[in-house]
Amino acid sequence: MRKTREEYGAIINNGNEYHYSMEYIGDRIFSVFHSPQCLRITGYTEEEFHADGMLWLKMIYEDDRGRFLDYLRGVGVENPSVPVQHRIVHKDGREKWVINNYTISLGKNGKVLQLNGSMLDITELKAAHENEAYIAHHDPLTKLPNRNLLYSRLEKSVQLARREKKHLAIMFLDLDNFKIINDSMGHDAGDKVLIEIAKQLSGFVRAGDTVSRWGGDEFVVVLWDCGVDGAAHIAEKLTGAGIKMEGMDLVVSMSGGISIFPEDGDDYQILLKNADIAMYHAKKSGRQKYEYFTPRMNARVKERSQLTNEIRKALDSNELVLYYQPRINLGTGKMSGVEALIRWRHPSKGIILPNDFLPIAVECGLLRQITEWVILNACRQIRSWQHYISDLPVAVNIAPAYFLAKNFEEYLRTILWETGISSESLELEVTEDIILIDPLKIIDTLTRVKDLGVKLSIDNFGTGYSNLRFFQKVSVDTFKIDNTFVKNLAQKKADRDLVRAMIGVGHSMNVNMVAEGIEDTEQLGFLKMEGCDEGQGNYFCRPRPAEELTALIAENANWMESGVDIPSGIELIGNYKQYPSHNEQESRQPQT
Ligand code: C2E
Ligand code: MG
Repeated sequence: MRKTREEYGAIINNGNEYHYSMEYIGDRIFSVFHSPQCLRITGYTEEEFHADGMLWLKMIYEDDRGRFLDYLRGVGVENPSVPVQHRIVHKDGREKWVINNYTISLGKNGKVLQLNGSMLDITELKAAHENEAYIAHHDPLTKLPNRNLLYSRLEKSVQLARREKKHLAIMFLDLDNFKIINDSMGHDAGDKVLIEIAKQLSGFVRAGDTVSRWGGDEFVVVLWDCGVDGAAHIAEKLTGAGIKMEGMDLVVSMSGGISIFPEDGDDYQILLKNADIAMYHAKKSGRQKYEYFTPRMNARVKERSQLTNEIRKALDSNELVLYYQPRINLGTGKMSGVEALIRWRHPSKGIILPNDFLPIAVECGLLRQITEWVILNACRQIRSWQHYISDLPVAVNIAPAYFLAKNFEEYLRTILWETGISSESLELEVTEDIILIDPLKIIDTLTRVKDLGVKLSIDNFGTGYSNLRFFQKVSVDTFKIDNTFVKNLAQKKADRDLVRAMIGVGHSMNVNMVAEGIEDTEQLGFLKMEGCDEGQGNYFCRPRPAEELTALIAENANWMESGVDIPSGIELIGNYKQYPSHNEQESRQPQT
């Protein structure tokens, strides 16, 4: 028996658990036994437990003590042992989690006589679990609740709002131009912006509200007990003036979409979807603003998703076509080239313009395929017009994102070789913002493209990020003055001054100046007077299908030494009127 006791003693003294035995006499507790591990787990010695029988109960964390005693009372003869997790306060004041596994013996009267058990310290395990749960529910960068936590909180908020007849506002927020910030300032700066936005958003809302990161540059805010007016108040603050980034010379703007419970949906998923739809509309209608969800938006989204499916098929079923709009040499009045503009000949909807389907095509990942289709067909068209005129220059629009495609110049080289046209007759139109993608890569690609002999023009000149040094570096051939400047030439002196300055800058850099969107003689007169080299616009000719332009070129084949005269009639109006002189025109226009 002594040997057995020694063996048990060794196990009890050397294990990880703290074993104890307590006796109940009347309402008092007396210590019977405490294994040496009590010192490590509780900070108290065996002697201290013996000296104060209540110490064992007192060290149980105050908030957990009641629960522990309830367990103790509930443990009966049928259920003699239940492991309980609770906290104790270590002698040095630290809070510790233990798993307490005990059995009790009851007297005849059903009262507890003895309590025997062991405690295991699970503080570290518990912390690891909590950390795991935290990671599973929070975004590591901004520390905001992630989608999972948002779903569960929103579901509960909807239930509560339904019960208490309250409103909830769900706000979907998306940073404007975050890609540009990331691309131009680097990913570290992008991360800083996201962290700062998270901080500021959290500061905007009240305690019961939720700010979460949906993913990427999208955030979702749930506002408790908040209707249309309250949501508008917050949305205006967030989307109106933009948010100043602490420590960075940057103001970031956001677009937002709002749905309201119960009006815009009865469950959290529909509310989120509708807020997202509203945000998409806010973005589409000009960014830095917010929109409320309306059922009409839903109809438009359905139409859009139908378009998405159809556009995938459009390429294969030859529904995409190129229209061509002439570019006129303002000095000679002859056609100096054409711009290829894509159209979608939709079987039931008729002609769809590029701005209404290209963004969707880009989202579907079709940009590369479409761009290469445009380049190939434009080059084939140049080749086909060679029958009447040698290498009529054709300009094609290239979206900035396409420049990220690999082997762009390789593709161009192959197409030029296959179609046998001279490389100078192909011109690429890119927008100024192309430099924001990845300046070094863009300069490298454009330089190699220019080495092929292909021409390069800057489209919508003056509306983006005009970096003249960059244009000089890549030897830009043409600036196309955006039609928003041309449109207001008659009304706005400021625009006349800008256009004059643009022409001056372009010419001083030896760059050919083209004005876009010329619609009347006044605009044309001013541009001619200021020495603009070329013009394009409905005044001369709307974009026409290739066959119509071919007919025109064929008819005028006799004059084609350096271009095609623009005949009057049809939609080609070439008989320029007398333009008012610079002074006359200025004096006739009200100064704006
Ligand atoms: P953009 O390159 O600035 O093209 C000029 C736009 O102005 C064309 O619109 C043209 O029809 C329109 N326009 C021409 N003359 C006038 C005028 O006198 N008044 C007015 N108000 N507008 C005029 P479109 O064809 O709808 O093209 C819009 C934009 O779509 C183009 O702007 C271009 O950025 C893009 N785009 C067109 N075709 C392609 C393409 O094949 N690939 C890519 N990536 N983008 C394209
Ligand atoms: Mg263009």
